[in-house]
Amino acid sequence: MIIFVVNCGSSSIKYQLLNMNGEQVLAKGLIERIGMEGSVLKHTPTGKYTVDISAEIPDHSVGIQMALDALTNEEYGVIDSMDEIDAVGHRVVHGGERFTDSVLISDDVLNGIEACAEIAPLHNPPNLYGIKACMRLMYNTPQVAVFDTAFHQTMPKVAYLYGLPYEMYVKYGLRRYGFHGTSHKYVAQQAAEMMGEHMSDLRFITCHLGNGASIAAIKYGKSIDTSMGYTPLEGLVMGTRSGEIDPAIIPFLMEKENMNAQQIDDYLNRRSGILGISGLSSDFRDLESAANRGDERSQLAIDIFAYKVKKYIGGYVAAMGGVDAIIFTAGLGENSPFMRDKICNGLEYLGTRIDPELNKLRGKQMEISIKRARVKIFVIPTNEELVIARDTLNICRRIIKL
Ligand code: ADP
Repeated sequence: MIIFVVNCGSSSIKYQLLNMNGEQVLAKGLIERIGMEGSVLKHTPTGKYTVDISAEIPDHSVGIQMALDALTNEEYGVIDSMDEIDAVGHRVVHGGERFTDSVLISDDVLNGIEACAEIAPLHNPPNLYGIKACMRLMYNTPQVAVFDTAFHQTMPKVAYLYGLPYEMYVKYGLRRYGFHGTSHKYVAQQAAEMMGEHMSDLRFITCHLGNGASIAAIKYGKSIDTSMGYTPLEGLVMGTRSGEIDPAIIPFLMEKENMNAQQIDDYLNRRSGILGISGLSSDFRDLESAANRGDERSQLAIDIFAYKVKKYIGGYVAAMGGVDAIIFTAGLGENSPFMRDKICNGLEYLGTRIDPELNKLRGKQMEISIKRARVKIFVIPTNEELVIARDTLNICRRIIKL
């Protein structure tokens, strides 16, 4: 069974084509600068060179068509025709309260995703462009939506409600939803497999530390809390996002710095976080080298980030009444021994410690805690595309008996 996985952002499309017999990636690609000058498709058939195709890509529909053309191209394609694609899996950022799991897309589901766009105006519309383009170009092929929020729909009310008048939750759906759900779910499943146990018997704290960063408490297979909220702005200090701040700062800044709602939103999402603290970069690699050269604000940004992560770990241990494993994933979590060490330093009271030799390894699925640690520490490279492809396969098998 061949599955096309599509992840549409506002000006980008990421895709993968997978053969689910053996879960093999046949090709992957990235289209950038949709609707802008200099748009380009980078297409990589597995094991071969990357082909750069520059073209005018005015919208997502043209982008999807180009991806399909690349996949079926005589020279660098990996299938003979589009008909070989059995199903399409779409990443959808926001599923609101309606979508608690992945679903086969129907008109009713499309309306539901459109309704969630009100809560996620930046994310859901491009996801919808991608879905509609694929439905047009492959009208006989089943399409499945996999939501970033779905895995966290098991959070109890105590974790997802804000201290706002309850009517605001009822009227506008103002509550915490959480994001990166496919990633948290995937790494937890992998960790359970590595431990030779079932997720339903284990308590995990999963740390997805990339440019966007979130942590989840996964108790006996279910997400019971996570650090992102109504939007991805809540929680940890991130690359360019402030994370949690006193909400009173918002009207203060709007008045003092003369900002309107759009400007403050941009300020908190794109100019804050470790970029804002360091005044240098949103990339931890830059901060690590600057800190090594003695740059104090870069050191401060690193220290604040690690401190916040550690505080969340402590909070989630309390929320779950213990923990069996802590998992690191995403760009920073997978690749920075320095940050992992900094975060875990001082967690010995939990019954865990990092093995410094094992921690030197990068980008590989592995256990990095010392032997006999009561609480294990894992590094697990995330694979959201694979979760989307697996969900798509399962739904197609179950519902339409493909
Ligand atoms: P996103 O998908 O949210 O854009 P990623 O998961 O790709 O982000 O993570 C990007 C972040 O990972 C970058 O900010 C970078 O700081 C960090 N990162 C990647 N590789 C390394 C590394 N070798 N050392 C330290 N940080 C790294």
